[in-house]
Amino acid sequence: MPIDSKMLHSKLKEFFGFDSFKGDQEKIISHLVAGNDAFVLMPTGGGKSLCYQLPALVMEGTAIVISPLIALMKNQVDAIRGFVAGNDGIAHFLNSSLSKAQINEVRDDLLSGVTKLLYVAPESLSKQENIDILKEIRISFYAVDEAHCISEWGHDFRPEYRRIREIIEGIGIAPVIALTATATPKVQSDILKNLGIQDARVFKSSFNRPNLYYEVRDKSDPKKEIIRFIKQNPGKSGIIYCLSRKKVEELAELLNINGIKSLPYHAGLDARTRAENQDKFLMEEIDVIVATIAFGMGIDKPDVRFVIHYDIPKSLEGYYQETGRAGRDGGEGKCIVFYSYKDIQKLEKFMQGKPVSEQEIGKQLLLETVAYAESNQCRRKLLLNYFGEDYPEDNCGACDNCLNPKKQFDGQEEMALVIELVESMPEHFKIEHLANILAGESNALIKSYEHDRLDFFGAGKDHSFRFWCDVIHQGIVLHFMEKDIESYGLIYVTDKGREFNAHPYPVMLTEERHFVEGVDDDDDMPSAGSRAGGGGGDQTLLAMLKDLRADMARKLHLQPWIIFGDPALEDMSITYPVTIEELKGCQGVGEGKARKFGKEFVELIARYVEENEIERPEDFIVKSVVNSSTANKVFIIQGIDRKLPLEDIANAKGLEMEELMTEIEAIVASGTRLDLNYYISQNVDDDVVDEIFEYFKEEAESDSLKDAMEVLGQDYDESEVRLVRLKFLCEVAN
Ligand code: ADP
Ligand code: MG
Ligand code: ZN
Repeated sequence: MPIDSKMLHSKLKEFFGFDSFKGDQEKIISHLVAGNDAFVLMPTGGGKSLCYQLPALVMEGTAIVISPLIALMKNQVDAIRGFVAGNDGIAHFLNSSLSKAQINEVRDDLLSGVTKLLYVAPESLSKQENIDILKEIRISFYAVDEAHCISEWGHDFRPEYRRIREIIEGIGIAPVIALTATATPKVQSDILKNLGIQDARVFKSSFNRPNLYYEVRDKSDPKKEIIRFIKQNPGKSGIIYCLSRKKVEELAELLNINGIKSLPYHAGLDARTRAENQDKFLMEEIDVIVATIAFGMGIDKPDVRFVIHYDIPKSLEGYYQETGRAGRDGGEGKCIVFYSYKDIQKLEKFMQGKPVSEQEIGKQLLLETVAYAESNQCRRKLLLNYFGEDYPEDNCGACDNCLNPKKQFDGQEEMALVIELVESMPEHFKIEHLANILAGESNALIKSYEHDRLDFFGAGKDHSFRFWCDVIHQGIVLHFMEKDIESYGLIYVTDKGREFNAHPYPVMLTEERHFVEGVDDDDDMPSAGSRAGGGGGDQTLLAMLKDLRADMARKLHLQPWIIFGDPALEDMSITYPVTIEELKGCQGVGEGKARKFGKEFVELIARYVEENEIERPEDFIVKSVVNSSTANKVFIIQGIDRKLPLEDIANAKGLEMEELMTEIEAIVASGTRLDLNYYISQNVDDDVVDEIFEYFKEEAESDSLKDAMEVLGQDYDESEVRLVRLKFLCEVAN
């Protein structure tokens, strides 16, 4: 029977049960069965497997499928056997997991010609005994799946993939089909070159995923934002990627404590736990899986509704692959990444131990990520541009930058300046180097080229280094310039750029974005109401709260700070607590203070929220993980309740008195009231207690110990002042 379109359609139905081909499948298959090499670029979920499975079943001989995913081979083979009932020999796999007897069975089926598809890992393919078998049989074609593994510019480089051409030549030449879901122009050329199929026809589908939404957020308080996001999306499945195992574990635990069903997944867990956690995610026993990048290759859960990157990914390719796991069914898929420049610096530091060429590649990939994160342009346009694809629309309607467009300005002069600079130099340089010249920022490299002597040096010093990087990036997207990836990202001017410079015209560019850095990400869990960045509150409300505090202070004859400190008011202006319970989530507000002073505050806030129709952030209070210092705190509170001498409590916990005082102060500062009178009356003279107490009540402008010591230090010990200060805070302020 001739292999024509009619036959392919009927086999498609017979084996796979599908009525029609998806995208370019039929074109690709016809091309392959006619004996030609093919290179298939299709996004994840596009239907690549069928492009080699169907031809393998209809062509003469055995197709060799090279795939790095040993774990998935068995599934794939089982699936094929399912299509072709009653003939298990039709598909086999060869990898290190097989026993001698199993290998013999595979060999028999291969030699007798019943096997149409043989899956192999590249390392098994290079074994001489396997090569000897394969030399005996007729090969229909070679399929190289996940072909980006060939390139060190891909996100999943496997050195064994480099040897594939050599091995094919050893076994016997046949057509080659290479398939991948991620390929920048650089990776693409690596694949073609390395497999020796430069003349292969390239089948490239659009990589656009219209149902995915892209957003980059400041990493100022990621944990709180993640919890809030998930609580606003109840019952939806999602993946959160972190770079370290430690963070994965911490975050999964934090989510559980906050009522979100989640499990960790990383390479440090044993295989069984990993498989169990993955299954629970697939079976929807949990909503969220927190994972390192080890998770997700080959898993196919169609309704993943969000993919969050807690840490910035190392490359845009990896990022696109990971976000690609969202919304495979064509439904909602939100992709959010948290970005801070500090993370970039951390990643750069990790690279330092690696060989120089690898470092160069790594840095270049990372810079692409920075440019993406900091850009004000359409995320979709940027991502597709990275994969060598133009996105024609001006506004995609589904990314943060398109939904909240940033100010634009006419960048004609700036663009012209960049192009002139590049054209003025005989050599070519990277973006950062060019931006440094224009911003007038010198460094060793600039000095070594004496570029600090150029007229261009500082010619754009009204703007920052980042501004100039951004202009150059936008110039690349507009095709005025291009970046040669072969030479690690050197910048060249294109014909279009030269034309622009000869006859400049207005070009609208977006202004740079400023990111807020958060508290150090590796700090302890943010406690309830911890603030980062500061000043983010509702300024009108804050002013009203301060007025209320001043009124109450007059009425109660107390100093304002004794009622609520500024940090507490600021928290209120951010979280809008309307009950005493919620109020306790604010900094420095404990049970006692909340009950004593809180009523009027929450009433005011409730009125304010109502009148201004404010949507209050839900579930804003992040419950933190109980850690060892919390356990200490519980012991101390119980000890004081039982009126134990403080020295005994310190001894029992192996603390110095000084350290114990610090712990007690932290307990009191978080709003817990302690009765220390039993200890104070035995250790501090009554008159001394009275005088220090008076100071705090009448004189002090805050509870600062430093200020107190300046006033009282001549007459009293610091330990006395600290104790009485605690008494004061507990009896009056809390
Ligand atoms: P990829 O390897 O490109 O990520 P797969 O080969 O795993 O994608 O296919 C993704 C999904 O699309 C699978 O569930 C597959 O059954 C389905 N599929 C493939 N081809 C067709 C087709 N012609 N019609 C309908 N569904 C298809
Ligand atoms: Mg695939
Ligand atoms: Zn957009």
